Amino acid sequence: MLCDVCSAREAVVYQRHSGRALCFKCFREDLLRRVSAEVRYYRLFTPNDRILIAVSGGKDSFVLLDLIKDIHRSELIGIAIIDEGIEGYDRLSQAKWAIDMAEKFGMEVYITSFKDSIGFTLTELIEMAEKRGIRITPCTLCGIIKRRILNRLARHEHFDRVITAHNLNDEVQTIVMDILRLDLARLVQLHPLSPLLSSNFVRRVKPLRRIFEYEVTQYAFLSGFKFQEEDCPYIKALPSLRARIRSRMFEMEGIKPSYPLNIIEWHDRVVKKILSRWDLKMPELPLCPLCGEPMSYGRKYCALCELLMKLGVSAPQAGHKAKV
Ligand SMILES: [Zn+2]
Ligand SMILES: [Zn+2]
Repeated sequence: MLCDVCSAREAVVYQRHSGRALCFKCFREDLLRRVSAEVRYYRLFTPNDRILIAVSGGKDSFVLLDLIKDIHRSELIGIAIIDEGIEGYDRLSQAKWAIDMAEKFGMEVYITSFKDSIGFTLTELIEMAEKRGIRITPCTLCGIIKRRILNRLARHEHFDRVITAHNLNDEVQTIVMDILRLDLARLVQLHPLSPLLSSNFVRRVKPLRRIFEYEVTQYAFLSGFKFQEEDCPYIKALPSLRARIRSRMFEMEGIKPSYPLNIIEWHDRVVKKILSRWDLKMPELPLCPLCGEPMSYGRKYCALCELLMKLGVSAPQAGHKAKV
């Protein structure tokens, strides 16, 4: 079957939400066009911005890096690889391709770890939590720490944006989770135009937020990306709310392919209205007296320092040991 766009090359992808069969070249051009449009529409970053891309080593970060190098100048791009320190899981070898790619295109490479930044590996922290009977899922803990490390790294190295590889399905899962938790503040915060609550935060943006997960997988596969067998052991051990929503979403996508796109468009529209009607000028977030990072209003310490103290760390190094 020939490509529905160029009618010249063999189609290799069936884009079910658009109903078109595409060759690899036209598929790639379609992705680039949609990513660039999203970047411009929401000013996710501008042509002179220095952007720091968080790289996990998986297919999503591969697709992000492979596309973004064609829409932004390589010398303005840095990649960040964070080794969580998960027993039996080798983050650095997972992300080896990214280091090679970054070096090939002249991007900066930053490698850091939980151990170097806050003094403990993720596995150590989880063992500490278990010993004290503190209920926190590894993914929650990991997420808080990773956000902290990325933000500090980006701020110290004068990046204008932190870029993550979340795709459309990831975003829709988050929207559904926020709705289930009735958390309007988080729903608003998820929007690309949400206010930045502290001058110490570097804005996080997601250029793949309108690219379906199936497209990411297909693109990675067709590009010859080597899918690693290894999955984070904590994800396998814990079927989270997100994982359950993810599998339901896939079922619904099978019935109506444009479903995730409709949800994100609804979210974009509704939150934009809220943002335009509400006076969201909030005072700058206060700073945590222990680590100096922004924390929510009304807290004594930031969530991370508080958590580390609960785990038995007497002097949290959440800010001081950050050799990033
Ligand atoms: Zn084509
Ligand atoms: Zn703190």
